[in-house]
Amino acid sequence: MATGKCLCGGVSFEVEGDIEHMHHCHCSMCRKAHGASFATYADVPVERFRWISGSDLIVGYASSEFLERRFCKICGSVVPDGEGDTVSVPAGMLEGDIGSSEIEHILVTSKAPWHTIVDDHKQHDSYPGGGEEMPGPAAPATREGVVTGGCLCGAVEFEFTGEPEFMRNCHCSRCRRAKGAVHATNLFVAPEKLSFTKGSEHLVRFDLPGAKAFGHSFCDTCGSSLPRQAAGAPFVNVPAGSLDSDPGVRPECHFFYGSKVDWYTPEDELPKHDEMGSA
Ligand SMILES: [Zn+2]
Ligand SMILES: [Zn+2]
Ligand SMILES: [Zn+2]
Repeated sequence: MATGKCLCGGVSFEVEGDIEHMHHCHCSMCRKAHGASFATYADVPVERFRWISGSDLIVGYASSEFLERRFCKICGSVVPDGEGDTVSVPAGMLEGDIGSSEIEHILVTSKAPWHTIVDDHKQHDSYPGGGEEMPGPAAPATREGVVTGGCLCGAVEFEFTGEPEFMRNCHCSRCRRAKGAVHATNLFVAPEKLSFTKGSEHLVRFDLPGAKAFGHSFCDTCGSSLPRQAAGAPFVNVPAGSLDSDPGVRPECHFFYGSKVDWYTPEDELPKHDEMGSA
């Protein structure tokens, strides 16, 4: 049995039995929707999936003719789609025993430039059995020294100049819930270097009750993670998945590695800190 919940805790669910199949999706639309370097979905037969709470908090955004992406309207976490014979469950938010699942990478040709696949799981250029990646919103023109980003629906755009201070992966359960991903990958940018160029009125800011600074900012229309400066924080936290262009920098380390899911072990050379460590 495994359970999952969104960052605010309003939406929760459980999955009975072993998860037999999961895929890491590297497409640009998943990256934007989750704000992460890639998305991971578990395919769960509907009879083994159960909502515990909060289905009334779920809103959707149709990112294509075929796919509606669901998120919690309070905190912006990506949540299961809950429909059809097979429920797509964002696997990074699951806690508990999921059994040993077959895992595959899909749409690897769309992989983020800062992410390296470091496991032996099978890789596919497309969806297994065919299909093609749906195009995301057109990327703004690239300008020298400017990194651009935005949400999946295109309502919100931002840009920053110069090199980010640092970039890191975080495996803490809050990041996993906020992104609905195995880990977050965030860049930290000086606030004077970043500006929203479009749609800042669509930004929803959720501050996690009881946390000193943790929260999640997202688009009210599509739920995509967007840049956020925590109260008192010196830098703006920019979710790497929201970027349209290559920031040049690469992740420096893994934080809260002790909180990672036990079925995902990045065998890379990066330092792995059980807690925050020093950046
Ligand atoms: Zn929520
Ligand atoms: Zn995808
Ligand atoms: Zn949006």
